[in-house]
Amino acid sequence: MAEYQFQTEVNQLLKLIIHSMYSNKDIFLREIVSNASDALDKLNYLKVSDETYKGVKSEPRIDITFDDPNKILTVQDSGIGMNEEDLNNNLGTIARSGTKAFIEKIAEDKNAGESNLIGQFGVGFYSAFMAAKRINVYTRKAASDKIYKWSSDGTNSYTIEEIKADSDEAKKYGFDKAETCGSAIEMLLNDDSKEYASRWKIEELIKRYSDHIAFPIYLHYTQNKYDDKGNITGSEDKVDQVNSASALWKRSKSELKKEDYDNFYKTISHDGQEPLHYVHTHAEGTQEYTTLFYVPQNAPFDMYQADYQSGVKLYVKRVFITDDDRELLPAYLRFVRGIIDSEDLPLNVSREILQQNRILETIKSASVKKLLSEFKKMGEAADKAKKTEADKRSDDEKAAIEKWNKFVKNFNRPMKEGLYSDYANREEISEIVRFKSTDAAGTGDDNWTSFADYVQRMKPEQKAIYYITGTDEKNLRASPLLEAYKKKGFEVLIMADEIDDIVIPSLMKYKEFDLKAVNRAGSDDELGVDKDEAKKKEEAFKPVQEKIKKALGERVKDVVLSKRLSDSPSCIVVDENDPGIQMERMMRAMGQAGPGIKPILEINGDHAIVKTLESCTDEAYIADVSEVLFDQALLVSGAELKDPMEFVKAMNKLLSK
Ligand code: ADP
Ligand code: MG
Repeated sequence: MAEYQFQTEVNQLLKLIIHSMYSNKDIFLREIVSNASDALDKLNYLKVSDETYKGVKSEPRIDITFDDPNKILTVQDSGIGMNEEDLNNNLGTIARSGTKAFIEKIAEDKNAGESNLIGQFGVGFYSAFMAAKRINVYTRKAASDKIYKWSSDGTNSYTIEEIKADSDEAKKYGFDKAETCGSAIEMLLNDDSKEYASRWKIEELIKRYSDHIAFPIYLHYTQNKYDDKGNITGSEDKVDQVNSASALWKRSKSELKKEDYDNFYKTISHDGQEPLHYVHTHAEGTQEYTTLFYVPQNAPFDMYQADYQSGVKLYVKRVFITDDDRELLPAYLRFVRGIIDSEDLPLNVSREILQQNRILETIKSASVKKLLSEFKKMGEAADKAKKTEADKRSDDEKAAIEKWNKFVKNFNRPMKEGLYSDYANREEISEIVRFKSTDAAGTGDDNWTSFADYVQRMKPEQKAIYYITGTDEKNLRASPLLEAYKKKGFEVLIMADEIDDIVIPSLMKYKEFDLKAVNRAGSDDELGVDKDEAKKKEEAFKPVQEKIKKALGERVKDVVLSKRLSDSPSCIVVDENDPGIQMERMMRAMGQAGPGIKPILEINGDHAIVKTLESCTDEAYIADVSEVLFDQALLVSGAELKDPMEFVKAMNKLLSK
């Protein structure tokens, strides 16, 4: 027997679990049964795709037994099983970095218990330690003759030993028979969890959480026999199938209730909450397939981690094939969970072949279209509901708004990724994404606007859709760049998401309207300055312009007279075709040099500070004013100063004059 230490993160997780961070203990059975189902799926797939497993003769099933006097509960499957290496890898570590990071986070958070953060992700196998003071796993991997026992009390370490086929322990779960493969998870229940060694409790939980598991789940129990007078005369062993074992997604929509969909979602997603939305499609015709997709209420906690694995599973004629959903839905839809089941793909399709499979391509593209049209409808319903005055809204209208707000809060950002990455669907996606805005419709926590609504509100003389990018919404709203647009009554979209700076310029247009960043040169054409007057002003500004240019030298790309400032003395824009400042910052954060873009300094010629430069010849004074004009413009734009001391010095000199 060898003893091993759990990986640090497993220990942290176990501590969290055992100190009852998890409010709903019942779910451990769902997790263990779902692992059994996964193990059966894996073996089924290998039987049709891998020579090594072709000869395996096990019938897929899950058996639950319990020992009432000794308070032991066992879930056994005839699935793939585990060898020694599998046991170490799967029941001793947590591989995914996202999960690790998440555990670190909640381990530090004292309030994690109340916020029930941990309920947002499946704690999986380890959740059984909520109910068990010790867990023994007896297992034999399919096509192998070795039987192993893994054992742990959930604190710090576990043991693994090989056990003999003719030992009592092996016989207990039928591993003495050579054809028995799979795993038996034997849970020695703790004092607070004795109720799980009961026929009724188990049956209730399976019906509630695991009814839709596609394999039969059998519950074994003993029943007393009685005579006519009600005296016990003996007992007999009985077995009942306790789940319906039909693939839920294959059933017709009319047969299914919202509750069925919700429960199925919880089984496949490990999410404790109900889904925000589901879409169930049976396609017939040239291709026959079923899809059932869910949108969660909250963004998966690790959605932005590189090794994030989302939850779409591919089945062929109900046989599980893969959940490597990089092939199944585009990355920007990675928050979608669910199932694709094809009648036309060959059963022994390999994962490699899937990558260029035409049938799958068709299903995938139809699925994306379907999802996008659902999202669009969801947004339209909410926008329509918002047209009703707040206190006159019906419950349905309120629900539509609440649902959509959740969607936008959680998934607007990945949808924007789609604008950039899914060229074929960008028009549809541009109807789904939402923005903050200078208009009331885009101001406040729960308000966003669409391009479509923006266009409705455009002034007759307005030709373009204006937006400003940066990192902080509050900052952007106060930007001096907005002054002239506000005066004209032109709405400006406020884009404070890091990716906006990349995504929105790449979109270029919404319908026939150009998208113009107000923090870029060339976006002020329409501000309605009289051409001749502008010329005159520019001429008059020339001498000041030269002085500032000379003072700032290589630090700016250009110094120009601004058409959009009224109160502030200066602002920063980037050249029309330069990458944005955000982009530069992101590249630097990723360790790349960045293109080293230089900003253009716009000057408000009418501002009192600027006026003082007109007749000034004191070079030191000009240098200080130029420094302050440039630095404050940088600060307001959200950029960092390369040399804050310079700024402070110049400022102090001016103040002491
Ligand atoms: P997840 O199911 O999300 O991968 P779990 O914590 O539930 O995480 O399980 C960890 C791993 O342990 C599984 O991925 C699987 O490899 C292995 N495992 C758990 N239960 C079984 C089982 N009954 N049969 C085979 N492998 C299992
Ligand atoms: Mg699991």
